[in-house]
Amino acid sequence: MTLLSVLKTVTCLAKDRVPGQLVIQITNQCNATCPQCGMRKTADIRRTRLEADVIRQLLDAAGEKGVQAVSFTGGEPLLYLDLVMELISHAGRAGIPYIRTGTNGFLFCGSRQPGFRDRIKAMADKLAATPLRNFWISLDSAVPKVHEQMRGLPDVVRGIETAIPIFHDAGIFPSVNLGINRLVGGPSTRDLHRKGFSSDTAYLEAFYQRFHAAFDRFFRQVTRMGFTIANTCYPMSIEDTGSEDGLQAVYAATAGEAVVRFTREEKVALYQALAANVTRHRPYLRIFTPLSALHTLIAQHQALLPSPGPAVETAGCRGGTDYFFIGSDDGHTYPCGYRGREDLGPFPDLDLHALNPVPDCRQCDWECFRDPSELFSPLLDALHRPKRVLKRISHDPRFFSLWQKDLRYYAACGYFNGRKPSALSRLAWFAPTGPKTC
Ligand code: SF4
Ligand code: SF4
Repeated sequence: MTLLSVLKTVTCLAKDRVPGQLVIQITNQCNATCPQCGMRKTADIRRTRLEADVIRQLLDAAGEKGVQAVSFTGGEPLLYLDLVMELISHAGRAGIPYIRTGTNGFLFCGSRQPGFRDRIKAMADKLAATPLRNFWISLDSAVPKVHEQMRGLPDVVRGIETAIPIFHDAGIFPSVNLGINRLVGGPSTRDLHRKGFSSDTAYLEAFYQRFHAAFDRFFRQVTRMGFTIANTCYPMSIEDTGSEDGLQAVYAATAGEAVVRFTREEKVALYQALAANVTRHRPYLRIFTPLSALHTLIAQHQALLPSPGPAVETAGCRGGTDYFFIGSDDGHTYPCGYRGREDLGPFPDLDLHALNPVPDCRQCDWECFRDPSELFSPLLDALHRPKRVLKRISHDPRFFSLWQKDLRYYAACGYFNGRKPSALSRLAWFAPTGPKTC
């Protein structure tokens, strides 16, 4: 973090806001076949792409309004690699420091063909010449063949493994992005069904154990592949799309397929298994997923079970307040990718000061917006609503303990700067027994 971005963050917090974030969907075109996604190449949707000039105007407006982070997403953004590189440079010139993009990895297919390494090196060098901060590569399963079948990208895992050291040499440290689904552990999580168990309790215990083992295998696998940063995307099957005030996805990275549908009880066990593994693998892999945010998601789902757990305070999502989604269909602004009924119009015309500073949406688990909202909420409350923060500390001390731990860990991770390698000696402090000494 630079001194300038610290100053900008403090200024935002003093105004009861957090540093702004824009997710810009360049296109909904894609060349992959992921069953968990409504934009897969076989999906029957209208394909769209934003004009380059529209995006440049957006970026200029974002810079003027003080937006700090921008993500170029898709579909598959790297279908337009040259354009994406130009837009990254444009965003940097507009004064936006945190710039991200990513890929399904299709450019890493064909790693046995002649010229593969030269092609990847040229791409890595070009990306490294831009102010790109984070570059993600998606991986859906700990079992390479399962991932490749899901994506329809043969042999892509070998290509990613070959590409990672080339990217490191160029000064880019890619993040692996796991979209959580029922195939994350391959057959072990795929073939798990309630009807094979005598009770819900026995099923949920087995569910926890299988997903715990799957996440464990996943984090080990990606570390072996050379990744130094990981992020997890919580399952995004949107349930409430029928009612008039329910969610309506404008971002079709969601599907009703069984592979991403989990019951509330399963989600509790899923997030518990994930939290245990985030704790286990943090000492050597920079894992963005905050334990404090998982804690509140678990509590939020538990509170809605037939035998509810205790109600706990959770932060409202900053989607529609400080974070926004720009859809490729119309180039308009939405509070997020799932509140598609709330068209906020072109971003340059949006008056950010007129928006409610204390949001209360908790309708989905979209980690892009929920995780940072949860992380910033104690700071905002301490400055502007001290009674609320005191009440939260007394009702849920575990949250605050995890939150402090997250902040220390994020500092040790260099705030996930994807242009720098991991400081392994600093991460080692997060081992359950502290760093090993000779
Ligand atoms: S998840 Fe990504 S790669 Fe897969 S179909 Fe959707 S947009 Fe394409
Ligand atoms: S919780 Fe956030 S991402 Fe989810 S619907 Fe609400 S504003 Fe959108």
